[in-house]
This record gives sequence, C-alpha cells and structure tokens, in this order.
Amino acid sequence: MSIEIEHVNKRFGHFVAVDNVSLSLPAGQLTALLGPSGSGKTTLLRIIAGLEHADSGRIRFHGEDATDVHVSRRGVGFVFQHYALFKHMTVFDNVAYGLTVKPRRLRPGKAEIRRRVMELLELVQLDWTAHRLPSQLSGGQRQRIALARALAVEPKVLLLDEPFGALDAQVRAELRRWLRRLHDDIHLTTVFVTHDQEEALEVSDRIVVMNQGRVEQEGTPEAVYDHPVNPFVFSFLGQVNLFHARVQDGQARIGDLALPMAAPDHQPEGDGLAYVRPHDIEILAEDDGQGALAAVIQGITVVGPTARLELKVAGGKDLIHAELPKTQLAPLGLSPGMKTWVRPVNSRVFVGHRNQN
Ligand code: ATP
Repeated sequence: MSIEIEHVNKRFGHFVAVDNVSLSLPAGQLTALLGPSGSGKTTLLRIIAGLEHADSGRIRFHGEDATDVHVSRRGVGFVFQHYALFKHMTVFDNVAYGLTVKPRRLRPGKAEIRRRVMELLELVQLDWTAHRLPSQLSGGQRQRIALARALAVEPKVLLLDEPFGALDAQVRAELRRWLRRLHDDIHLTTVFVTHDQEEALEVSDRIVVMNQGRVEQEGTPEAVYDHPVNPFVFSFLGQVNLFHARVQDGQARIGDLALPMAAPDHQPEGDGLAYVRPHDIEILAEDDGQGALAAVIQGITVVGPTARLELKVAGGKDLIHAELPKTQLAPLGLSPGMKTWVRPVNSRVFVGHRNQN
C-alpha cells in the first residue's frame, strides 16, 4: 500500500518538528527516513502511524484519506528501538497477542492462531524459541520476535523506529541484512527511521534525508549518495573533504587545478566549496604533469581491505582524508612523512558556501 504525505506540519509549542513535508512512498518498498537527532523522523513516523496528529496536512494510504483514522484501524505494525515484549509471556504468546485481543468476530480460532504464529516464527527463523521467555533471548532475537509480533496482525504498512539502535554493531549489521532479505520475501510497504547513513544505504530502496523538520532530498540510495543536491546531504551521507574552489567559464578550479565535476550542468559561477569524498581522491607518488596538489602524508590507518590516509595539502589548513585499497600502498611506496600529489577525480562544487571552520 502506498503512503502519501501531503503538506504535513507539526509543532510542539513554538518548536517546528515537521515543516511542510510532502512525500509519496511507493507500495512494497522499504523507505528509510534518515537524518540527525531531532530532525523530525520519529514525529513523522508517528504521524503516519496515527500515534500523533498533524497540525495540518493529510496522510493517505493508497489514495484513501487516513488523516483522522484511529491508529487501531490504520492497519500498521510497529517496532521501536526498545520494544518491550511482555516479559512474563512466552515468545509464542507474545507473537499471538495481537490476534488474541481482536474482537471476537475477527479473532481466528486457536488452531489458526497456532498455525500463523508458527509460520511467523519460521519467517524470522526463531521457531525453536516458541516456549522461551524473552529474557532467555539475545537482544537481536528479541527484535526479530518484536517484528514477528508486528506482522501477526497482517499490517498493510510496517513502521520501524531505529529497531536495531540498541544493539551492538555486529548484531546490528547482521539484522539489517536479515531485514533486507525478509523484505525481499514479503514486500510489505515499510518505513524505517535511522540516523545511520550506512544502515540507510545498505537496507533501503529509497532514502528520505531529513533535517530540521524538512525533507532535504529523496531518492534511491545511489541517487542521494552520488548526486546530493546540497552540502547538508553530501556531508550527512559520508565523509567529505572541503576545498576552496572557483567556478568560472563552466570550469571549476582549486587554485590552478581544474576539477572534474559530478554535476557540471546548471552550475552557477563564483567562489564556493568543492566537496570530495575520500575515495574520490587519487594519490600519485610522482607528479604526472596533468594537474595535482602537492601534499604530505601525515598518517596511514589500515581498516580491513582499505587504507585511510591523512594528508596535509600545501597551503591548506585542514587535513584531508583519502581512501584507497590497501594493496596499492606498497606499489605506490606510500608511508607517513612522504611527499605525494593528490587529485580529486570527482567533486561537487557548491557556489556561495564558505567553510565554517
Ligand atoms: P531522534 O533520532 O533523536 O529521535 P528524530 O529525528 O526522530 O530524532 P523527533 O523525535 O521527531 O526527531 O523530534 C523532533 C523534535 O521535536 C525534537 O527536537 C524533539 O525534542 C521534539 N519533540 C518530539 N516530541 C515532542 C513532544 N511530545 N513534546 C515536545 N517536543 C517534542
């Protein structure tokens, strides 16, 4: 079921938590609401759920106005970061709960409840835990049970608010891959709140980047990562290096160095900042005469297959960061203290922006 959000506003006192948000979330897709703390993601999710009422604007599910429909009638399932399972109920009873509290005429029979619960426990690969108590499960397993419980009432929309936020990094990474596979199986329209850009990039079909209650950009993970529309989105989606740059006659330059630009069309002219990702900085052991900035390597850190370099560019005040496969360190003979040349191979210049540092 698609979700349409039209000009939704929400204030708490004078504080604007959601500022005129309009979005169309396609049916069957997993959409991440991504943004820093306080950007309004949870408030927007709660408005979609019907747990919070917007001051103005409409919410439609598959074209039908749901703005004033009570949460219990919206057909939504939730999982929150600290989703409290009932401690004294078994896993089976927790998952069955939503079915057993249905009005009598809608309540499935005992055998049907049993069949559905076991099917869901198999779906989340925890059927062997049916008779355990939540306290006998790990945090990651509990969140999978919370998901099974949310799915038990056959929601048309699944809403997840930082569901893996309280778990450690490794379990979190496993669970997000698991969620992606689960979504590929069941294709339920899902909205997922996260402040973790890696999680959003890895898991979702679409990303909505939020900041200060507004939508900065929405699109596929590739589109928002490769073609960020403004400095906020560029910086929020990954590490960046900033260089003073000038755009003139359709050419961007850092000093004398001509820059290839990711989005040369419609580029306004003037002074601004070039944004360059660490993996878009090429390191040269020798000056090849084709334009590069002289730099000295300050430090090298190897993390898994990747080498991260910190470099001081001649005349620049901030250190810059570059990333390359660690297998290239030896052929280039790179080591700390060495003089090298760096060349941005992809960049985006935002004219009119100044470095805050
Ligand atoms: P986080 O990741 O920290 O939860 P978020 O992007 O989900 O952030 P929201 O939880 O939607 O942000 O909150 C947006 C802003 O609205 C915050 O500054 C928060 O303090 C404020 N806010 C949220 N709920 C209420 C409330 N019930 N009363 C007053 N202020 C609120």
